[in-house]
Amino acid sequence: MTSPKTTTELPTAENPPCSPVAIALTAENLGTEVVTLYVGPKRKQIVVHKKLLCNRIEYFSKAFDGRFKEGREGIIYLPEDDADSMSQLVDWLYRCTIPPIIQSTMPARKLYYLAEKLCVSEAMNAVMDEIQKYHKVYSVHFNPNQMLDVYRSTHERSKLRLYVAAQAACSFRVLKHRKTWDANSELFSKMSVDFFRDIMRIQLDHWDKLREDYVWPQRHNIGKGLDLCDFHVHNKDNLSNGNVTQTEQGNLENLEAVNREEN
Ligand SMILES: [Zn+2]
Repeated sequence: MTSPKTTTELPTAENPPCSPVAIALTAENLGTEVVTLYVGPKRKQIVVHKKLLCNRIEYFSKAFDGRFKEGREGIIYLPEDDADSMSQLVDWLYRCTIPPIIQSTMPARKLYYLAEKLCVSEAMNAVMDEIQKYHKVYSVHFNPNQMLDVYRSTHERSKLRLYVAAQAACSFRVLKHRKTWDANSELFSKMSVDFFRDIMRIQLDHWDKLREDYVWPQRHNIGKGLDLCDFHVHNKDNLSNGNVTQTEQGNLENLEAVNREEN
C-alpha cells in the first residue's frame, strides 16, 4: 500500500484526492466536538470528531447539520450498517490506512460496500488498491460466490463491479474454464443481468487484450494496461464507470495463476 502522505489541509467531501492523504491531527482539523455513532444491530458505539467526520463524509455533514435531531444531540443510529466496517472507516479518517487483507477479501469488500454507500471515494480507492495488491501478490482472483456478493452489494456503476467483470472476462478468455463453469453453473445462474452485460461489454471492447496482464498489468511490467486508477473513483468520474484503457501485447506467462480462486 502506498505510504500515506501527510498534509495540514483537510480534504473535503467535494474535492477528494485519489491518493490516500493523512491529515495532521491538529485541534484545528479535528475541532473539539465529538459525535457518537451507534452502528449495527448490537449498537456498537463509535465516538468520532464531528468536524473530521462531516468534512470527509457528506452524509454525516447533512445528518449533523442541526436541522435534524441527530445534529442537535450528536448521536446517530445506523442499525443496518456493519459495525466493524464503520470502525475501519473511522480509523481510516484519522490514520488514512486500512487493514491489510489476510486470507480473505471479505472484510475489505464490506468496507468497500460501506464506503460506496457513503460515497467516500478516497476510502473506496484505498480498499480497491488493497484488493488488487492482494490478488496480485497471491495470484488469486474472486471466486463466483464473491462475485455474486459484490454484485448484490454495489450499485451498477461501481468500480468494484468493473474489477469483478474484468477478472471474469479475463478468466473466461484465457483459461480452460469448463470445469469452473460446470462447478459453479448454479451459482452463475444467480448472477444478475448486469454481471453478464458488463463481461460482454469488456469482451467486445477488449477481446484481444483479455489476458493476465490485462487485469494485473504490473505483474510483468508490460506496457500500458489497466492500472490501479482504472478502478478508482475520481472526481471527474462522478462515480460513473471509467473507460478501460487498453493493454499492449506482451508475454503470456503463468496462466495457471489466473485460474486460482480465493479460498
Ligand atoms: Zn486514481
